[in-house]
Amino acid sequence: MCNQNGFTLWFTGLSGAGKSTISEIVSEELRRRGLLVEVLDGDVVRTHLSKGLGFSKEDRDTNIRRIGWVCEILSRNGVAAIGAAISPYREIRDEIRGRIERFVEVYVECSIEKLTERDVKGLYQKALNGEIKHFTGVSDPYEPPLTPEVICHTDGRETPEQSAAKVLAKLEAMQYIPAT
Ligand code: ADP
Repeated sequence: MCNQNGFTLWFTGLSGAGKSTISEIVSEELRRRGLLVEVLDGDVVRTHLSKGLGFSKEDRDTNIRRIGWVCEILSRNGVAAIGAAISPYREIRDEIRGRIERFVEVYVECSIEKLTERDVKGLYQKALNGEIKHFTGVSDPYEPPLTPEVICHTDGRETPEQSAAKVLAKLEAMQYIPAT
């Protein structure tokens, strides 16, 4: 019998904005507080559950719906499920929100200028040169959330630790996790 109330923490934002970094810090802290946690990272999911899917709108929607479905099941079973994928389309994110009772959306916000400068994975330069087609934020759409529960500004205004602290504070305020 698990007495933990599950929830889904959903990170959305452009590639390199900081979804993986913040979700890693948050997940470690949640585990430290004794919660069951599972992270579904977009890049990792594309290597198995969504292997073979590309970056057309249809494939992107399928990928996000799959991650959402797994988060739904995990949440229902007492797990703190963390989704960290670009999830560019508002409609699909809202569809997932509608299916999950306890859903917390985190918009990981960073300007394209800063992302291009930082270019953690070297993808922006390639996208700008046209070597990668349909790259979110450069040559493919990204629809920011209108009313996310949390916004993390990762363009230099916040450190990853400060961004993670904002997320944890919100989870505490919503009483989804016990306060320390
Ligand atoms: P994503 O998962 O969104 O593709 P990553 O987490 O892989 O992005 O990369 C984010 C990069 O931004 C890292 O190099 C990280 O150190 C840096 N960064 C700077 N400020 C922040 C912040 N406040 N939160 C998260 N990452 C940040």
